[in-house]
Amino acid sequence: MTKTILITGASRGIGAACAQLAAERGWQVCVNYLAGREAALQVVRGIEDAGGSAFAVQADVSQEAEVMRMFADVDARYGRLDALVNNAGILARQMRVEQMDAERIGRILATNVTGSFLCAREAVRRMSTRQGGSGGAIVNVSSRAGVLGAAGEYVDYAASKAALDVLTIGLAKEAANEGIRVNGVRPGLIDTEMHASGGEPGRIGRLKGSVPMGRGGEAMEVARAVLWLLSDEASYTTGSFIDVSGGR
Ligand code: NDP
Repeated sequence: MTKTILITGASRGIGAACAQLAAERGWQVCVNYLAGREAALQVVRGIEDAGGSAFAVQADVSQEAEVMRMFADVDARYGRLDALVNNAGILARQMRVEQMDAERIGRILATNVTGSFLCAREAVRRMSTRQGGSGGAIVNVSSRAGVLGAAGEYVDYAASKAALDVLTIGLAKEAANEGIRVNGVRPGLIDTEMHASGGEPGRIGRLKGSVPMGRGGEAMEVARAVLWLLSDEASYTTGSFIDVSGGR
């Protein structure tokens, strides 16, 4: 039986790399996206051209009804779910805490925290052996920012990732004897379009001197950690974190 994985925010960046690598490892892949329909379809085409199976599903993970529709689409398409990667995440323009308003903070938390909770909920409802499922695995894509704090840039984003880490710890314990493992990956400075949304496309160039390995990372380097945590190789690993940050 081919296993099914849902990856949120998989139209580009780290999510797209996870989708590609998951397909290479034999998963059938649900590629969630928010606005990048063409990019998501390109990820799907890449997987299909390589002989894999994938489909794109639009949904805003911060909206409960959309999350429920997305999981229903996955049920209809593949009839099973074995893994979730909570990867969709946003940040906003760099600023200090005293400049932030409630709209901005709420927007970050809605996607990064509420969205991840809602997707985890729907995944557990399907995968938990207590609810008739066959077990599975969840990986939450957090950030080293959740530990370092992102001072002067986006402390709200960092706080959302710290909250996501607590979801990892708590849900791992809740679901451990229901066949579900829950782990986190904390990327450091990874070369994606995300930095542009903070207003500094060249951010890695500015900060790479602070990385012990002296460079930014590639999305695929994060994807490899995610796929390991999802694999049977990680069968006794839950509530754990892998930092993929070149030592930063
Ligand atoms: P990108 O900005 O390149 O991609 C973000 C993805 O998330 C896109 O596919 C986007 O979809 C999707 N997305 C955004 N909001 C929503 C939403 N509300 N619902 C569904 N999908 C949404 O980001 P990265 O690949 O860099 O980041 C992926 C994850 O890794 C994030 O959680 C981020 O916080 C984390 N991370 C990234 C680091 C980095 O240096 N790049 C460092 C540490 C952590 P669309 O394009 O369709 O709008």
